[in-house]
Amino acid sequence: MHIVITPFEPLQADATTTRVQAEVPIYLGPPPVEVLIVPSIPSPPEAYNARRRQWDAARLIRWVVERHRDPTALNVALHPGDLYVPGFNFVFGLAEPAYETCIVGLARLQSPDPKRWHHRVLTEVLHELGHLMGLEHCTTRSCAMFFSNTIRETDAKGPAFCSKCQHLIRAYRQGKTQPQRP
Ligand SMILES: [Zn+2]
Ligand SMILES: [Zn+2]
Repeated sequence: MHIVITPFEPLQADATTTRVQAEVPIYLGPPPVEVLIVPSIPSPPEAYNARRRQWDAARLIRWVVERHRDPTALNVALHPGDLYVPGFNFVFGLAEPAYETCIVGLARLQSPDPKRWHHRVLTEVLHELGHLMGLEHCTTRSCAMFFSNTIRETDAKGPAFCSKCQHLIRAYRQGKTQPQRP
């Protein structure tokens, strides 16, 4: 299993993305996961909702799936904007496990404190990666899979998974390394 991070322009392989690249494997357990950052891609203009001033997360994911997805990897898109899905005011991120692709929007994670900013980005990336590995939301408030409605709830949890979720990740990763059935 490996992970591909695809930044949407103007994001790139900068301090934020390279720290995510370095730290994601720490939380996914052994054996170490390879994380790659690929060149930035432009946003499809039709995914922007000018009335809401937000980006349609499902459309952005579809764009990644159709044009940029690595089918052998778990794909994480990072978008600089504010994301939504119909029926919600906003989402921090969205995952499409069927396509092994997820997205995290960075606009709502901004903080003047660089440590907090990094903590938020890493936490939301691991949350969406958890969904790609089949995990549901978790009731443990400190677990990365706890559903956060507000940035305060994101700050109250963290990038680490609880023991139950760690167990599910181990099972998922072991399944991935089994030889494929014909
Ligand atoms: Zn979630
Ligand atoms: Zn959990």
